[in-house]
Amino acid sequence: MTDLNIDDILAEYDTSNITIATVCSHSSLQLFHGAKQEGFKTLGIAVGEERRRFYDAFPKAKPDEFLMVDNYQDILDLTSELQEKNAVIIPHGSFVEYLGADKFLSLNLPTFGNRNVLRWESDRNIERKWLESAGLTMPREVKNPKNIESPVIVKYHGAKGGRGFFIAKTYEEFQKRIQPKKPYTIQEFVMGTRYYLHYFYSPIQNNAYKLNKGSLQMLSIDRRDETTIDEVQRLGSIAELEEIGIHPTFVVTGNIPIVLRESLLPKVFKMGEQVVERSLDLFGGIIGSFCLETVVTENLEFKVFEISARIVAGTNPYVNGSPYSDLIEPGLSTGKRIAQEIKYAAKTDQLNEILS
Ligand code: ATP
Repeated sequence: MTDLNIDDILAEYDTSNITIATVCSHSSLQLFHGAKQEGFKTLGIAVGEERRRFYDAFPKAKPDEFLMVDNYQDILDLTSELQEKNAVIIPHGSFVEYLGADKFLSLNLPTFGNRNVLRWESDRNIERKWLESAGLTMPREVKNPKNIESPVIVKYHGAKGGRGFFIAKTYEEFQKRIQPKKPYTIQEFVMGTRYYLHYFYSPIQNNAYKLNKGSLQMLSIDRRDETTIDEVQRLGSIAELEEIGIHPTFVVTGNIPIVLRESLLPKVFKMGEQVVERSLDLFGGIIGSFCLETVVTENLEFKVFEISARIVAGTNPYVNGSPYSDLIEPGLSTGKRIAQEIKYAAKTDQLNEILS
């Protein structure tokens, strides 16, 4: 699936003795926990003694073994050592961010999911092409700030976790806040309720919502807790605060479990299906866990403002299952589901279908 020859590396692996490895951060507690539940050995890559100390504090989720590095770039020099351990890497948002997208793409280790998806999600314009051509509705884009007629959200490119984003209701407000040297996108600010939908797509199993190839599960839903926007009203209205120069921010600090109105669920599956089917045409498929970040309007319409193409931290409230995953298998977390997929693929000799 990438230019690397992962098949050759896999050919040398003892696939009955895989080690699940990831960077100690983001959702790694859940990944190690799930991998251990499925009987895998686990390895945590950690920078600094404090990290190891923290990850050592959870007996059910601490990795069996730590690989200590001075900085994340060192992982690139340790691939032979990791290959000897039959390591399969589970990427998460921090893993990709710490390593950098280019280095992640060149990492010479079998990695869960399809790495080609990075090219489609890391640029907001290309991401929009994928999602809109799949039939999803996205927030309207405002190309010229002079055309701002209703509230918009201004997003800097590459910003992670909403850092630096701001709301503007007029062109004048936009001009006051914009840092023109940084590339940005202006989007309609969608009024509604935010839902972050966690899916799992298996190209090799047919035991869920059936697609042309494989099947789709919806494992859980969360809402992000974002500071300061979610608590700003404790001090006054946004308008009042903006007058004295206090602007709300969108920095993620936590995740809240959500159950969706049941009549919306068929739409959730339909959207997941559309995204997967289109991804199969465009780049060989989005494999494993992914998340659609949405706002539901008062007309009960989903507007999708972002896709994350791997496990998201919003699945962390569900280490012991969610109201949806429990209906698939009691106690099923996304971490455990990933481990199950690797186990099944190893057993049926299909690892090259889910690793890249
Ligand atoms: P991440 O990569 O962590 O998902 P990001 O930096 O790409 O974050 P977004 O997810 O696009 O940022 O947006 C950050 C937050 O801003 C969202 O969680 C949501 O609260 C808010 N937001 C984003 N787009 C919109 C929109 N069009 N309308 C209303 N709110 C939005």
